[in-house]
Amino acid sequence: MKIAIVGAGAMGSLLAGYLAQSFEDVWAYDIWKEHIETIQRDGLLMTRSQKEKYVRLKATCDPEEPGKVGLLILFVKYNHTQKAIQDSIPMIGPETVVLTLQNGIGNVEIIQEFIPDDQIYFGLTTLTSELIEPGHIEESFLGKGETYFWPLSERVDDRANQICSVLNQADIHTEITPDVQIMIWKKLIVNACYNTLSAIVRLKVGDIINEPEIWSVLNGAVGEIVKVAQKKKVPLEEKEAKRFLKKVGEEAREHFPSMLIDVKNKRKTEIECLNGTIIREGKALGISTPFNKTLYGIVRLLENTYEQRIT
Ligand code: NAD
Repeated sequence: MKIAIVGAGAMGSLLAGYLAQSFEDVWAYDIWKEHIETIQRDGLLMTRSQKEKYVRLKATCDPEEPGKVGLLILFVKYNHTQKAIQDSIPMIGPETVVLTLQNGIGNVEIIQEFIPDDQIYFGLTTLTSELIEPGHIEESFLGKGETYFWPLSERVDDRANQICSVLNQADIHTEITPDVQIMIWKKLIVNACYNTLSAIVRLKVGDIINEPEIWSVLNGAVGEIVKVAQKKKVPLEEKEAKRFLKKVGEEAREHFPSMLIDVKNKRKTEIECLNGTIIREGKALGISTPFNKTLYGIVRLLENTYEQRIT
């Protein structure tokens, strides 16, 4: 099966690297020229702890070059989803499955504007990766990492099973499960709390959760997210959601969330598909979301004032 990864940054390169070790026709497509040219010249350098390997794969900045693919995995950040899926049209035929494992809520809706529902699969992964420099990623996940997806059409047919098998053959441990919906909302809770706060206060997760006074803010935001989820028929319980947030915080004490890195690099964050989604959904469903509005407003202020910051 021909496979294209669209957005071959930290995560896209990770998946491309794994897939290319098992399959021949794997393409990394990205608009970042220096990164793509480095992969073309030297291969992709993948490091994990002290071990390193170079993986050869096809890399391009031209979306026409791969031709139609069987599987297209979209791994750009939320703000680039619309442009990336539009640019990818030359790679997408009637048989192509478009899989998104991106964070947050809202990417599927953007993809739906361009691709029929029965070609869209969505899910999440516990794999993590860091871009060190052009052509070089560090696999930062603990354990073996888990990936889950579910077809938007809810039909688990031969094609869905084939995609699952392709991912597993490449050592990307994957399951097809309708539970992705609740998992996505739980991951949203973690990101809408820790990513957002970490970007605001510039602290790693462990330093945030140590402060007792911040828990009323975190729990307030969780309560609102749970109300929105429940109204959308996602069976999320408030007590379990709060327990989950605490547990992940304990496990990720040393973690610097990606939104913190974005803010440090003066980039646009993924706030729109995290707290931003909750505010929009809350408004549509008649649920007030003051905690999420506060967190969202502060991150938007940060994003819009990078050049005015007093250091
Ligand atoms: P990243 O910024 O490292 O990579 C995104 C890549 O997309 C960049 O290389 C960029 O050049 C490319 N891009 C932007 N616009 C494009 C376009 N129009 N066409 C093609 N390529 C384009 O981001 P990342 O950390 O890999 O994150 C990607 C997604 O995965 C996000 O939703 C993130 O929240 C999620 N995620 C990240 C991690 C992680 O550990 N990094 C883990 C789980 C989920």
